[in-house]
Formats: sequence, structure tokens, C-alpha cells
Amino acid sequence: MRKPKLQSPTGMHDILPEDWKYFQKIYNVCEELANFYEFAKIETPILEDTELFSRGVGLATDIVEKQMFSFKSRGGDYLALRPEGTAPVVRAYIEHGMHNLPQPVKLWYFGPYFRAEKPQLGRYRQFWQFSFEVLGEAGPVIDAQIVQIFYNILKDLKFKDLVVSVNSIGCSQCRPCFRRLLLSYFRPRESFLCSDCRRRLRENPLRILDCKEEKCQMLVSQAPQMLDHLCEECHKHFKDVLEFFEELSLPYSLNPYLVRGLDYYTKTVFEIFPSLTSQEPKILRSSSDEEPSQGQVFIPKFRNKEDENNIEEHAKVGALVGGGRYDNLAKLLGGKPTPACGASAGIERIALLLKEKGLKIPAAQKPKVFLAQLGELAKRKTLKLVEEFREIGIPISESLGRDSLKTQLNRADKIGVKYTLILGQKEALEGTIIIKEMATGKQETVKLEKVVGEMKRKLKTKN
Ligand code: AMP
Repeated sequence: MRKPKLQSPTGMHDILPEDWKYFQKIYNVCEELANFYEFAKIETPILEDTELFSRGVGLATDIVEKQMFSFKSRGGDYLALRPEGTAPVVRAYIEHGMHNLPQPVKLWYFGPYFRAEKPQLGRYRQFWQFSFEVLGEAGPVIDAQIVQIFYNILKDLKFKDLVVSVNSIGCSQCRPCFRRLLLSYFRPRESFLCSDCRRRLRENPLRILDCKEEKCQMLVSQAPQMLDHLCEECHKHFKDVLEFFEELSLPYSLNPYLVRGLDYYTKTVFEIFPSLTSQEPKILRSSSDEEPSQGQVFIPKFRNKEDENNIEEHAKVGALVGGGRYDNLAKLLGGKPTPACGASAGIERIALLLKEKGLKIPAAQKPKVFLAQLGELAKRKTLKLVEEFREIGIPISESLGRDSLKTQLNRADKIGVKYTLILGQKEALEGTIIIKEMATGKQETVKLEKVVGEMKRKLKTKN
């Protein structure tokens, strides 16, 4: 019987060199912005105690209930491949006593996450995210700045029409009342809900609001909205966030059905979508909404059919970024109460769109010199020469594994180097080397020990 071919696990991919170029580009932009906004880099382990996620993210969330790769270790510990990064970072914040540092603590990270989802375009079982978190700061200005940072990263990556979808899901003061309202709305209508939402009704009724099933959406469109039931503090916080958005000219749309799949969020939640329509993003409001009188909080409604269609269009591509405020998470994980806000972006989705848009990524460093060799002695000397060029900082290319001079010269031609250095058997014995200028074909012979200095002079390379 023929052995089945070995392949990467379902929903998990190799990142091939042509893809890593995009990952690297995204990393570089993140790093530049992290430095500007003074975020320090942190990396947490890929494996964590399963309990970190069941406690932090929430037992009744899809991520924990259905999607976590968890197992019992040989030592008997229950471990999970991290499905998300915020709970681990908050665990690290508590474990390393970061509350003793000047607050807020601003951290960023970039790495792989694991969720047993049904694989499809832009949705994988191992996927990469970059994330920015601000811990120890309660003010709404941070929520706006986090959104602005992700917006800037995507802008720097040449994304044009981006839309920030935003909502407030309240806090432990106002959410329980809203939950009760939702229950009394959905319970009599339970038989019209999909099977998942019937379960959600018992475990996590807020999640019904972002169900994608048409029959649930019909009911949701008439359901009470959290924005109408925020406590005074959450109302003020949200109003301030929106005012900061206006100040920053961030194109946003209110989406009262945005709840996100993780339990730890409080107050602001948001997602950033690439806009598929050419029209300018706008604040979504229904024709019946009225401008607020002074001092009144104006919360526009999301009711217009055309606007809903727009959001549906965005949803097809999937959100590029998701995040929000999580003021209760540190306490939930056994730390001091620590208000915090952060977000994560899906790197595969961003890379996919960059590729689709044909974003050209220039090679990091184009070799200027090719080292060609013929014969055993020449090969040995060339091997050493490679190191001398590295030390002096001149990028080179070689084909040490090749023996045919013709093949090597063809390769030099293809790469488009300025000079090829040829070390044949005769030159290797005499301690010389040929410098060939590719544009003119002019050749000269120099002493081998002088060639690096000579090339430096010719290329006027700064050391
Ligand atoms: P989340 O951690 O669920 O808030 O997701 C944040 C971002 O990560 C999303 O907006 C997506 O861009 C990306 N993302 C989440 N889950 C996946 C997945 N299974 N595959 C690829 N990207 C994902």
C-alpha cells in the first residue's frame, strides 16, 4: 500500500519565502509605529494553562468552548495552544508585577495563534496576529489612540478606504440589565432562532447580536440595543471616544450589533474593515435620528438598508483588526483591577490583500558582487572570501555548490550584479583574482588579499 503523502495539518500553512516577505513588511511597519508610540515588545509562550483562557476569555465563548487545542501534558497539566494573546499578556503583567512600573504599560507582540475553526479564505487554524495593548489606563483617549495606531499601520501598508466599526458593550454595572432585557426579548421568540443562538440564549445572549444567520438577524434588527442602555459612565466614555475619533478624522461607523467573540471586553469594542466600496465611509445613522441638543449624547442608529449592505460587503472580506477595552480581565485573572485596552490584527488577511493589490516588496539588499570559482582550491578560498565581504558589509551572491563556471556566470548575469569576481584554478595558485565589470565586460586581475579593499573602493561602500 502506498503511504499517504505528508501534508501540513488542516487549516495550518507553511509561510513560504514569497509570503514571509509580506509578513516581514508588516512586522517592520508595526515596529516603526511601536517605537514612535513607545510600545515595548513582549512575547509570551505558545502554550499556556488551559484555565487562563477558560477564566479570561470565557467558558461560554466559541473560542474556548469549541476552538481551543488543549491537552493534558505528560506531567498532568492541562495546557492549550494559545487561541489569543490578550489573556497571556495580562497574565504576564500580573506575574511580573508590571503594575509597579509607571502606568500605563504599553506592549506589542507579533506571533501565531491557534483556533480549531472551519478553514476558509482568511480563516485558518494557525494564524498570525500583531497586537498592541495599553494596561493601567482607564481614559477613553487610549481607546481612540489604539484605533488610530492600527489605522495608521494599515495606512502605512497602503490600505486606502478603511472603516472602523465601533460599539460599546457596557460594563458590569449596565450589561446585566441589558442582558435581562435581551432575554425577555428573545425568550418568546426562541423557536425562530438558529440552534446555535438557542444555546447562546442560555449561555451568552449578547452573542446572538452578531449571529450571521438571516433568521436571527431579522429578530436582532428589532432587539433592544446596548447603546440605549449604557450607564452614565459608559455613555460618557463612549461619547468621548467618538469625539476623539472626530478629532483624529477617523472614518467610523456605529454598529450596535458588534459584540465580539470574547467575554472580557467592556465598554468600547471595535473592528477595522477594508472598504470594498469606493464611497467615503460615514457615520451611519437612520433618517429618524435627530441632532442632539447641547449636552445630550447623540448615538446614531444603524438602520438604513443601504448602510447594512455596505457592512455586509465588508464582512465578506472579514475584519482585519478587532479589539476593545477589557477593564475586568486583570482582576478576573487574579491581579489588581487594571483598566486596559488593546487590539489584534490578522496578518494572513492583511498579507492576502497586499498580495492581491500587487504591493511590491523590494528585496532587503541586492547583491552587488558575484563570487564565481573553479576548482577545489578556489572553492576553499572563495568560502573564506564570502566572510571577508560580510565583515566589510558588501552584499554578495555566490553559487559555491556549482562547479561549472558558465552556470555561475549566467547566474551573475541574471542577478544583475555590478561586478563578478572570478577565482579560477590558475588564480587560486597565484593568489590573484579577476574582477569583471559586468556592464562593460572589462576585466582586471588583482591580488587576492587586496580584492575586498579594491571592491570597497569601487563600490564606494560606507563601512
Ligand atoms: P480576534 O482575536 O478574534 O479578535 O481577531 C482579531 C483579528 O485576527 C481578526 O480581525 C482577523 O483579522 C484575525 N483572525 C481571527 N481569527 C482568525 C483566523 N482563524 N484565521 C485568520 N485570521 C484570524
